[in-house]
Amino acid sequence: MSQAQYQVRGPVAVITLDNPPLNGLGHALRSGIVAAIDRAAADEAVQAVVLTGSERAFSAGADVREFGTSKAGMEPSLPNVIRIVESSAKPVIAAISGACLGGGLELTLGCHFRIARADASLGLPEVKLGLIPGAGGTQRLPRLVGLEPALNLMVSGNPVPARAFAGTLIDEIVEGDLLEAALAFAQKVLDEQRPIRRLSELKVKEPDGEAWLQFARNNIAALSKNFPAPLKCVDAVASTLTRSFDEGMRVEREIFYGLMNTPESRALRHVFAAERAAGKIPDVPEGTPTRTVKQVGVIGAGTMGGGIAMNFVNAGIPVVLLETRQEALDRGLATIRRNYENTVKKGKLKPGEMEARLARITPTLDYAALADADLIVEAVFEEIGVKEQVFRTLDEVAKPGAILASNTSTLDLNRIASFTKRPQDVIGLHFFSPANVMKLLEVVRGEKTSPDVLATAMQLAKKIRKVAVVSGVCDGFIGNRMIARYGKAADDLLMMGALPQQVDRALEKFGMAMGPFRMGDLAGLDIGWAIRKRRAAEHPGEDVSAVADHLCEAGRFGQKTGAGWYRYEAGKRDPIPDPLVQQLIEQAREAAGVKPRRISDEEIVERCIYALVNEGARILEEGIALRASDIDVVYLNGYGFPLHRGGPMQYADQVGLPNVVRSLRRIAAEPGANVAFWTPAPLLARLAEEGRGFNH
Ligand code: NAD
Repeated sequence: MSQAQYQVRGPVAVITLDNPPLNGLGHALRSGIVAAIDRAAADEAVQAVVLTGSERAFSAGADVREFGTSKAGMEPSLPNVIRIVESSAKPVIAAISGACLGGGLELTLGCHFRIARADASLGLPEVKLGLIPGAGGTQRLPRLVGLEPALNLMVSGNPVPARAFAGTLIDEIVEGDLLEAALAFAQKVLDEQRPIRRLSELKVKEPDGEAWLQFARNNIAALSKNFPAPLKCVDAVASTLTRSFDEGMRVEREIFYGLMNTPESRALRHVFAAERAAGKIPDVPEGTPTRTVKQVGVIGAGTMGGGIAMNFVNAGIPVVLLETRQEALDRGLATIRRNYENTVKKGKLKPGEMEARLARITPTLDYAALADADLIVEAVFEEIGVKEQVFRTLDEVAKPGAILASNTSTLDLNRIASFTKRPQDVIGLHFFSPANVMKLLEVVRGEKTSPDVLATAMQLAKKIRKVAVVSGVCDGFIGNRMIARYGKAADDLLMMGALPQQVDRALEKFGMAMGPFRMGDLAGLDIGWAIRKRRAAEHPGEDVSAVADHLCEAGRFGQKTGAGWYRYEAGKRDPIPDPLVQQLIEQAREAAGVKPRRISDEEIVERCIYALVNEGARILEEGIALRASDIDVVYLNGYGFPLHRGGPMQYADQVGLPNVVRSLRRIAAEPGANVAFWTPAPLLARLAEEGRGFNH
């Protein structure tokens, strides 16, 4: 059956796009539209055409299911479909409700008139995939609404309600039944014999257009540093001033295909697909039953517990917050209140809503208050003894079927589960600090975690607006296990001859939100110190970080103590390089008998990022991560990895795995190198040899 339904209502042919859920403009729908337009042209009873979609979407643009397949470019291509619609001798009216995005909006620009519901969502989101509109949008839209509104829509990529375009892009805003309104509008066009308006035939009338575009270029260049597409929107739009429509279409095509092949667009398209893939768990299919979570318990009202509680109450789920001592409880609640007050001050939350959210938190010192909780998240001290005590108690007080979650960063979740008689109900929910802000949630699947518990956690993550990634059990899970390698590579660079500020600068230039030493100072160096001490006790000789240990021994824990890898002036967060740190580093080099050498920024990036990639490959091979793209999602959402590079594994693919392997082998062969650390992971070496990538 055709995906474009054809129906005649009086003198009007109604073509209804019918490719649920969002009328993606795949090949079948494109062909269907052309066939229906031809049919209307040939039908003598038809004098006008209405093109419409569903309540939910006129069309949300290209069909994502077709991305990257041969069908995507198959004729009739979208630009040609739009040209055919536009050249119809009978007036074509687009009747729009719901999402009208990308190619969907471009299709309406091929129509001669547009009517829409006030809240229909109009947008050109192509820049979010590193592209520009590629079906005439850059040429037709400025001709209709002018340069500035057109560019705003393209460069922001954000949708705008149709009411904002009443009288310009949209000829009429519809209140009641959309189809009836469209039929009435068509009748009016016929009665008034309104001339057909083909946007490709219009001229942009802006005498100062060139000057304005130059101004726009300067602004956009400053805002879109790492992404070429926004500036390319200006180039494409500029041709509407100086060139014919057909020439402009050629310019648009050239730019579009040029961008398709940029690493930035590849990265953005990869991330788009990766975030969707992360929700899929092969042995927990969609439709796996989930448990109802109406009330949550949080244990520990410290740094993490408070933020975790906020996530749930923000989503309307009441929380019982448990502590051991009243002071700790009061402190935790005061912090939560302060956080909300700051949001209110910024105008992002109404005072009444703040109170409503706070009222959803029930503080307690008594485990009996957790009896009704459907999910209990533990965020107490990172000590196995404390976790044991908490989970043994939970096993006694939690109702049957309650999900028992731990926010542990490094401890063995299977061991934690074994403290209960219901290991199938135990799962890791690893939030990132600050837990009310950071998007990432590592969902840690224990050996015995049951599928419905996992499915519930993934569903709940969406509800509290987190990006969830499943991780198996290992020390540090996906993110922290990798970051330890990255940190080690950064520490080694200090011993070799670099200074913290140089390492940070090089990695920030690469695009990391924050270099490793600044990040350490922010997070607190005592955390890593405690972990190193524990690991040193478990595996003597491993994981030494001489300089970091000296800093901690001197009480320099980072920002919170006013000094760490840098020093900080009271009340300020700007890191100031500290000669004392340089001295410590020089002493450590001397003690180790190392002669410092000059280190280039490229070498810094290579070592730190490839250390991440190499550990990522091990994590993938061990099955800790389900797919390489999950690792990318973790790094983009939890560790400030630059979006335009698509995550560490995608970056490695872009560099080419054989090149990554060659570099790692070269480093491993350097005198004094930690060979086990730098030897390429077997999976990485194998993929490189087979000419494959992690993600492809
Ligand atoms: P924190 O020291 O700030 O808070 C821990 C809280 O737990 C304290 O308020 C303490 O009074 C309370 N507590 C201790 N024992 C308790 C018990 N038996 N019953 C009830 N409450 C108890 O620590 P945090 O930074 O919030 O870390 C908590 C957990 O989250 C740890 O497992 C940690 O590894 C993990 N984590 C921390 C971070 C981070 O960046 N801080 C990030 C992710 C995960």
